[in-house]
Amino acid sequence: MSRFLPTEFVDSIFEIDLEKLKSMGKKGFLFDIDNTLATYAMAVPDEKTKEWIKKLQELGFGVYLISNNNERRVKPFAESINAGYIAKALKPRIKPIRQACANMGISVDEAVLVGDQLFTDIWGGSRIGMHTILVKPISEVEHGFVRFKRRFEKLIMKRLNKKG
Ligand SMILES: [Mg+2]
Repeated sequence: MSRFLPTEFVDSIFEIDLEKLKSMGKKGFLFDIDNTLATYAMAVPDEKTKEWIKKLQELGFGVYLISNNNERRVKPFAESINAGYIAKALKPRIKPIRQACANMGISVDEAVLVGDQLFTDIWGGSRIGMHTILVKPISEVEHGFVRFKRRFEKLIMKRLNKKG
């Protein structure tokens, strides 16, 4: 069972501790795209995500995209952040994961795999002993935020009504 489990679990990519991973000897990231770096509706990452990936590259980390989505989706996304990519990776197959590491010139031990799904993204990496990080799917985080906003709105309306 533990081989299904991620090494770490965070709310979003922005909570990934880059300094810690660097000190652990990690040299490159393999990212899932959909719901990990962007929603399905976004053709390229938003500015905040682009900035974060740039920072990661400036810190010396390799960045590689590994997606089960097709070339048409993955290529422009990868180009927008100067990253290599493998489309139609058929995760949790291990072959594309190893291939991505080889293309970055790093070993599996030096790589970190980041994704939003346990049985596709994480399982593939975990079963070959890779450091894996599960993030909450972006769409769900957005929905969570909408729910939070609604609750907040309700609370305010209640207060206003009391005053009135
Ligand atoms: Mg995904």
